[in-house]
Amino acid sequence: MEFDIITAFPAMVEGPLSHSILRRAQEKGLVRIRVHDLREHASDRHHKIDDTPYGGGGGMILMPGPLFSAVEAITERHPAARSRIILFCPQGVPYDQARARHLAGYDRLILLCGRYEGVDERVREHLADESISIGDYVLTGGEIPAVVVIDSVTRLLPGVLGDEEAARKDSFHAGTFDYPHYTRPADFRGWKVPDVLLSGDHRQIAAWRQEEAMKRTSRQRPDLIARRSARDDTAANH
Ligand code: SAH
Repeated sequence: MEFDIITAFPAMVEGPLSHSILRRAQEKGLVRIRVHDLREHASDRHHKIDDTPYGGGGGMILMPGPLFSAVEAITERHPAARSRIILFCPQGVPYDQARARHLAGYDRLILLCGRYEGVDERVREHLADESISIGDYVLTGGEIPAVVVIDSVTRLLPGVLGDEEAARKDSFHAGTFDYPHYTRPADFRGWKVPDVLLSGDHRQIAAWRQEEAMKRTSRQRPDLIARRSARDDTAANH
């Protein structure tokens, strides 16, 4: 799978993408991540990428020209069969694990990072296939959301995680949280690992884990359980 990030601040994404699992995924050739400097696609010699808003109101807006040129250069140089253009925006569709799974089915994602007061509306209307928000808060730019999407999509790709089981047991996968994890020591400052995990009884362990996952999900996020039962009902009716 390939990712093309278009940003005015390439260094903001390069760091997080070059360590641990994301780094290994690239070294193994499972993903390819290209970072494109928006300023290189500016049409004037001052590499201007932003301007003041029509109608006034302060702040700077990313101009449409450099973003369109960057996307056109990428699709020409690196054609991909199933490709999608994503604009990051607090007004976009809320990002979740289901969306991550959906995006993992594409061959390539082009990620457009906004900045300052935002992006010229024509980018959303005529360039992006969809807008994504990573949560109900406002960041200074789309770089961190781009890293969030690449990270969450990459760990779903076959071969990326060492333990193939791991992604399947994760929180949200089955509509609940993951169960609690413990490692050595069995007694840390008087806080003990639950006996069942030391019992060696795999059926009991599995039952305990399932129960704990359910318990903490209904306590913290009853909405996830409600959504899960709604989904099960729909599935049963088909
Ligand atoms: N004035 C805009 C916010 C601009 S923030 C508004 O109120 O909607 C600058 C850029 O940061 C945005 O263009 C977007 O690319 C990115 N950004 C900020 N918060 C985000 C979020 N929650 N999810 C995704 N992108 C976000």
